[in-house]
Amino acid sequence: EAATLKNIASHCKEYGFIYPSSEIYDGLAATYDYGPYGSELKNNIKEYWWKAMVRLNENIVGIDAAIFMHPTTWKASGHVDAFNDPLIDNKDSKKRYRADVLIEEQMAKLQAKIDKEVDKAAKRFGDAFDKDQFISTNPRVVGYAEQIAEIESRMKSSIESGDLEALKQLIVDLDIADPISGTRNWTDVRQFNLMFSTELGSVAGESGKIYLRPETAQGIFVNYLNVQKTSRLKPPFGIAQIGKAFRNEIIARQFIFRMREFEQMEMQFFIQPGTEMEWYEHWKAKRIAWHKALGLGDDNYRFHDHLNLAHYANAACDIEFNFPMGFKELEGIHSRTDFDLGAHEKFSGKKLKYFDTATNESYTPYVLETSIGLDRMFLAVMSASYVEEKLADGSERTVLKIPPVLAPVKVAVLPLLNKDGLPEKAEAIMRELKLDFNAQYDAKDAIGKRYRRQDAIGTPYCVTVDHQTLEDSTVTIRERDSMEQQRVSIEELIGTLEEKVSM
Ligand code: ATP
Repeated sequence: EAATLKNIASHCKEYGFIYPSSEIYDGLAATYDYGPYGSELKNNIKEYWWKAMVRLNENIVGIDAAIFMHPTTWKASGHVDAFNDPLIDNKDSKKRYRADVLIEEQMAKLQAKIDKEVDKAAKRFGDAFDKDQFISTNPRVVGYAEQIAEIESRMKSSIESGDLEALKQLIVDLDIADPISGTRNWTDVRQFNLMFSTELGSVAGESGKIYLRPETAQGIFVNYLNVQKTSRLKPPFGIAQIGKAFRNEIIARQFIFRMREFEQMEMQFFIQPGTEMEWYEHWKAKRIAWHKALGLGDDNYRFHDHLNLAHYANAACDIEFNFPMGFKELEGIHSRTDFDLGAHEKFSGKKLKYFDTATNESYTPYVLETSIGLDRMFLAVMSASYVEEKLADGSERTVLKIPPVLAPVKVAVLPLLNKDGLPEKAEAIMRELKLDFNAQYDAKDAIGKRYRRQDAIGTPYCVTVDHQTLEDSTVTIRERDSMEQQRVSIEELIGTLEEKVSM
């Protein structure tokens, strides 16, 4: 049975992956702290991404820019004027909602009806079922699809033109009720900027107002010439960064999927204008391959092309992942044109062009962006890894089948018994292994219970030291997913493990 978000959240808390932030004060909404295993897993995801993006690409380098940036940055980027969510309050429940999300939920309901019809027909027709044909001809399905298209077009056009009354009217026309109170007593729709602001030093008021960055990308754009020159790069080249971003999300729920403080792993690729479609396809292929190589299941990914593009893009898609609540955005791939560099040139008055010595011409590079949420990637790994299993002997276990390269603990060293010289032998092995791997020593409780503990945190290998070890210097390695055990010599141990868990 598929894990729910609730299963995953409670497992994360129980085993030290993620805690609600400031829990002793009853927590802070949509803010989470990563515990001992969570921070290991998070670091491994970062390293895995950094290695693929920076180390393996000679024309991509990394930076680590400040969270605070000059306030004009956010005027140039469009975030001061255009980073808004439409909000609506219910007067009875006093709950606040994003108008677009309420409407999207209606579209999802219609989509679910379509899916149900398709499933029914697929069962009825068996092998002869032609899904595409069914979808385009079945009157009921066609009807639902038309309704979805109409709602979507009304929603998009009212958002794009900033017509908040039209958005409210759509909510009324669709007869949407408050999901909590069931009532329809709404306020007008208002715009709400997602950026957090604070004041710089002692300068209060508008002049000292600065923002917490809502995306890491701008730190890359404003540094692009510094990096290009100091790294002696020429387009096509990329700049990568991992760092925190902040958005005052209205509906921050669904565990770590949507938080107000989160981390992004972004790469901006600077290219010659006119080559963006080639590079767009290139990075789409590269990024989906990176995801699939992890082995979380190819069927868990799909592309979603954006038909309505953000103000900065001329092509964009998401890589969606099959989270417990359905397919949702995990990563965005955007062709940002020269929007950002052009805007920074205009606002700063500085030349940000690249001078091509081969052609003696200068141009403002176009930018291709890949942007993935680290926390969403964490949730994707957890969702695909969490399994409750019934074993052959009738017992049950909860196991995290985390890809070994990402697993927080790579190997546990367990003396079979806590006597007869076994702990001493096991400790000696532990001293050796911990130089190469994140290893854990555990001598408490029966061996079966210790295996379960390691399963629950996703440790791919357990090394058990028993009486035979003292005689012939061999140990058993137990593999997490198959639970199979294999005897290897202590000498071979490091090589065997390295082969299985290294990046
Ligand atoms: P969404 O539509 O889900 O709000 P977005 O389109 O605003 O996301 P981008 O601005 O493209 O997201 O940001 C790039 C990536 O950053 C997203 O693909 C996502 O993985 C991550 N991300 C964005 N907002 C959040 C958030 N509030 N919490 C966690 N991760 C986030």
